Amino acid sequence: MKLYLDFEPCQECNTMMKQLSSPEMLLADETTRSNESAKFLRHLTYNHNEVVQAVMEDLPKQKKDQEFDFFK
Ligand SMILES: [Zn+2]
Repeated sequence: MKLYLDFEPCQECNTMMKQLSSPEMLLADETTRSNESAKFLRHLTYNHNEVVQAVMEDLPKQKKDQEFDFFK
């Protein structure tokens, strides 16, 4: 899932985003990756609520696109 977000990442965000896109993480297994993403999302929920709101608004749209691809 790719998200293009317009917000000011704090120090913690930057650290986690760097971790998430590090080569180690790209080679990590599914569980580790989803754990790290969950950690980042949790941080966003508590510290950057406006971002979560934007993501929520965007999600149904993405789901619809995926379903459309599926039925093509
Ligand atoms: Zn942050």
